[in-house]
Amino acid sequence: MKIGFIGLGIMGRPMAKNLLKAGYDLIVADKFAAEAVADVASCGAQAAASNKEVGAAADILITMVPNSPNVMEALFGEDGAAATLKPGTIVVDCSSISPIASREICAKLAAQDVEMLDAPVSGGEPKAIDGTLAFMVGGKQEVFDQCKPLLEKMGSSVVRCGDIGAGNVTKLCNQICVAVNIAALAEALTLGQLAGVEPESIFEAIKGGLAGSTVMNAKAPMMMDQNFKPGFRIDLHIKDLNNVVDTAKAVDSPIPLTQSTLEMMKILHRDGDGSLDHSALLKYYQKLTGEILHR
Ligand code: NAD
Repeated sequence: MKIGFIGLGIMGRPMAKNLLKAGYDLIVADKFAAEAVADVASCGAQAAASNKEVGAAADILITMVPNSPNVMEALFGEDGAAATLKPGTIVVDCSSISPIASREICAKLAAQDVEMLDAPVSGGEPKAIDGTLAFMVGGKQEVFDQCKPLLEKMGSSVVRCGDIGAGNVTKLCNQICVAVNIAALAEALTLGQLAGVEPESIFEAIKGGLAGSTVMNAKAPMMMDQNFKPGFRIDLHIKDLNNVVDTAKAVDSPIPLTQSTLEMMKILHRDGDGSLDHSALLKYYQKLTGEILHR
């Protein structure tokens, strides 16, 4: 069985390497990252010159690109892999995209007898390297069962959430919780310091209680150190929250907290901070108050 892999960025490169380590036969391409293709090829993958070449060889094709238009381009653009896919191939799109787009892409692939799962991940680069990502998957049960062992080589949790699109709906839920949590943490630590209590004391005192969270443990130290090295970039989170807005509109779901946090992120983007880690939401409060959080 041959695995095609398109998109060898921050996430795709280590994910592909974990499949090689597990003994899978891989053919890879990345239109804009020749160095990443050469790197993964040096670990044993076959380097393809085009997405079409990957499509022609793949029994299962994984895509890991930024957003819905990029998946469309990788599959159906001028060098789109879909043109060369054999009937019976499975496309596993691990990109975090709009669930509406996932359903459209699945329908287009179904017309050529190609199955699809949407399988976005949570965990970021460290977990992509460790092979401990959390996959949230949408698609037919039998297609999921076929692909689960493959996904388990890249992740420690692989959960089917429903039919096609359900993976990306779940990912959007994840991204709402993470964004709003980070914003709440930035707001709380700013208030605490302005009210005369050391942020470190606040963190130590509350992290074991109900307010404690994985987000708090990861992001409070970064905020106190003014360390906004990504991690997960503000611009990627804006992309996800824009997908939340589109999805919420389609199903008439209220999203006041997402809208507020998205506005804060857009202001940071306009100020040139889009490539910082999303913990830089703190900078929104620092700009408003002039108060710089410290340890
Ligand atoms: P990235 O920008 O580092 O990598 C994307 C890669 O896709 C790039 O190398 C780019 O050249 C390639 N690409 C784009 N269009 C292409 C095309 N048409 N054909 C071939 N290659 C193409 O992004 P990333 O950080 O690896 O993220 C990928 C996805 O995973 C995104 O949807 C992101 O939201 C999601 N994600 C990222 C993280 C993270 O921490 N970085 C965590 C969880 C989920």
